Amino acid sequence: MQSETTWDRLKAEMKAAAASLGIDKIGVASAAPFTEMKQRLLRHRELGRESGFEEPDIDKRTDPSLLFDDPQSIIAIAIAYPSKLIDAPKSQPGARRGIMARSAWGQDYHVVLRDRLAKLENWLRERVPGLRAESMVDTGALVDRAVAERAGLGWSAKNCAIITPEFGSWVYLGEMITNLPLPPDKPITDSCGDCTACIDACPTGALVGPGQLDAKRCISFVTQTKGMVSDEFMRKIGNRLYGCDTCQVVCPVNRGKNWTHQPELQPDNEKAKPLLVPLLTMGNREFKETYGMTSSAWRGRKPIQRNALIALGNFKERSAVPDVAGVLKDDPRFELRATAAWALGRIGGEEAEAALKAAQGAERDEQVLKAIEVALAAIAGEAAGEKPATE
Ligand code: SF4
Ligand code: SF4
Repeated sequence: MQSETTWDRLKAEMKAAAASLGIDKIGVASAAPFTEMKQRLLRHRELGRESGFEEPDIDKRTDPSLLFDDPQSIIAIAIAYPSKLIDAPKSQPGARRGIMARSAWGQDYHVVLRDRLAKLENWLRERVPGLRAESMVDTGALVDRAVAERAGLGWSAKNCAIITPEFGSWVYLGEMITNLPLPPDKPITDSCGDCTACIDACPTGALVGPGQLDAKRCISFVTQTKGMVSDEFMRKIGNRLYGCDTCQVVCPVNRGKNWTHQPELQPDNEKAKPLLVPLLTMGNREFKETYGMTSSAWRGRKPIQRNALIALGNFKERSAVPDVAGVLKDDPRFELRATAAWALGRIGGEEAEAALKAAQGAERDEQVLKAIEVALAAIAGEAAGEKPATE
């Protein structure tokens, strides 16, 4: 049996080795159940604020002993990612661009975190051959944020992110449950204080209180759905193709922080801020080749193509009318045709109107026909100098 000081020493060595393993911050949490988090999750469910993407078993998300036999500690890691595009191409009339959330820049962070956790596991096993460990990355099995908070990586912020004092909230979190009785770190005492910048800036009021997210109102969630989006949300999506960073961008702690040292996480400007029109006709194969390595690919190309239509509508990009009309006429997916109709209604003008009328005659889907009707009414209203009916 090794003494407590051995575990203290191992932990200190592990922290010293973190940078060489490509890990920016590391901490240790006890493996006791997360009882407070469990209550929060139950309440969240009761209020109908889940996105539906979560692991449904709340016990599993909050009790490490249900995932691992006799857990002794949880090691939490953070790796920092970039928040700025350097020399980003401009979005301009005739060449409008959408934006991917920062979490979809560079290589899929799940892959990068798994790599770092595997390196850490090897490092530990070299020193403790009897190591048992289970690594987790955004699987929903454990609440990453609760673990990171308990391990002292950062505080649980009003925008629902974990804010590390060093890197802000531009960090990906992962964890490893182990059988090593490493001494736990203390949670940090910093907090958001009186600031409410994120809550004030959220375009949809999805932050219903400090640290409380109504996931169904969150644009980040909406951009990842595959169906049709309500007019209200389409307008608020702006030119976001995947995810939403507003509540992190406005955070004063994040100001000026941009992390460029993790090579796999650095953005390719053309993928992070792509031209919208070419996305509309991108085939499955090309999508996989272009975005398959990023975290935005997990829902396939459909949500991103739908969001590209929405963005062109929001830009009122007249030069894109033939391309949007092409989707309305030819795309086999009704959600995309209906969204194309919405976009044409939003862009307005004679060409958009003609395309809508032409499609009206050929369309068979009820929902698309409805969308065409609403779009034509919006254009007619605008032509008559009225506020569009959809506003
Ligand atoms: Fe609001 Fe966007 Fe933050 Fe969601 S990600 S809470 S929509 S600011
Ligand atoms: Fe906290 Fe203010 Fe940052 Fe929101 S914007 S997470 S309240 S510090």
